[in-house]
Amino acid sequence: MKLSFHGAARNVTGSCHLLEAGGLRILIDCGMFQGAHHADEENLGDFGFKPSDIDILLLTHAHLDHCGRIPLLVKRGFTGKIITTAATRDLAKLIMMDSAHIQEEDAARASRRRRRAGGEQIRPLYGQIDVLSALDYFGPNIGYEEDIALNEAVKIRFINAGHILGSAAIVVEATENGATRRIVFSGDLGSPGHALLSNSTPPPECDYVVMETTYGDRMHKDLESSVSELVEAIQRTIARGRNVVIPTFAMERTQEILYHLKKAVENGDLPSSLTVFLDSPMAVSATEIFRRHAESFSPDLRDDILSGKHPFDLPGLRFTRQSADSIAINRITGGAVIMAGSGMCTGGRVRHHLKHNIWRSNSSVVFVGFAAQGTLARQIVDGAKHIRIYGEDIQVKADIYTINGFSAHADQRELLYWVSHAGSPKTIFLVHGDYEKGMSNMKEELEKKGLSVKCPTLHAEANLD
Ligand code: ZN
Repeated sequence: MKLSFHGAARNVTGSCHLLEAGGLRILIDCGMFQGAHHADEENLGDFGFKPSDIDILLLTHAHLDHCGRIPLLVKRGFTGKIITTAATRDLAKLIMMDSAHIQEEDAARASRRRRRAGGEQIRPLYGQIDVLSALDYFGPNIGYEEDIALNEAVKIRFINAGHILGSAAIVVEATENGATRRIVFSGDLGSPGHALLSNSTPPPECDYVVMETTYGDRMHKDLESSVSELVEAIQRTIARGRNVVIPTFAMERTQEILYHLKKAVENGDLPSSLTVFLDSPMAVSATEIFRRHAESFSPDLRDDILSGKHPFDLPGLRFTRQSADSIAINRITGGAVIMAGSGMCTGGRVRHHLKHNIWRSNSSVVFVGFAAQGTLARQIVDGAKHIRIYGEDIQVKADIYTINGFSAHADQRELLYWVSHAGSPKTIFLVHGDYEKGMSNMKEELEKKGLSVKCPTLHAEANLD
């Protein structure tokens, strides 16, 4: 039995692990490398295995750094089966289509530039047609806690990871030469108390664990105070007759915020007349996918949804897909909450809304997610007095809020609690973390407990015998 690591190795992105066991080659995730300067090369490079040799791909969840190279895998010869939950399949389709669209546009732009200089055309990593081909390989959807036999020697079970809708950790039990090994892949783990999802299911006792370490060095702020901070920022701004702009990512955080706003309206903390614009075609599509997957919500919300009461049904919620409707929002100077992408303000409709609101005193911009260095979001968070949007110099007069308590990832304490259920595995492999920070920190914490821990490098192999 062999395990090898082809992404998220001493790094956060590109999750891709290969388990060779019980006569099968099983890939766990096939994510895109993102962010780093050499990410393009990494995505274009060799997988570290032959795609046509892979029998089955198990997908933990629909984030791009877990599903983003699937169309490329298919383009390069994979013809196996892709197994995941129903919600993950639908969300992954949206995420992969969006990624293909961005790559096609980027390649077309770069090609025009190249051709003017006499160079050759640039091809995208994959296009929308490749995503459609990849979707043909998705097999029947599976639910949490179902035991599935892949063959007579290998059994799998998806368990709730509480990270995003449909997310799972995966338990694999494989028998080879008379010995059975149980291996658990954490995928990405959520933080307990998530607004929409049940807490992650602890893993069973096992022989090996492959665990994420995104926040292996951090403790989260408490969620309740973050929700209060959000509601107070809106109350204050609306009372002063201005708008609140919330830059958000299309999937998950948007829906979480909608849920908290609905609760605040129900509790009377916000007026039922509050108008909330969801001004992002992708976020609107993601929200519609959420509406179709009652089975993936926490039991309370699932029952609500099945009885026709939906957690996002704010009385004043307006979806705007068309750009004409988006432009019409610019005429509203007060009383509205405007949610739009991108979350880091690097592109998308939120830049228009910042342009029309950030220069007005008494309006607000509320950041509810991570803002990377070098992005417009980061400049604003860091207190810039002037910003540039579409070549225009704009003064920052709005109140700026940075609310850090919303997180899709478990923190150090929560990761340690989760993995404590695995008993005393022979080895815990740490992945999906910054090596210098979350990963090293988690290694230290686990070694203090006498556990054997490894942080594999890219394409490293480990024997599981
Ligand atoms: Zn994730």
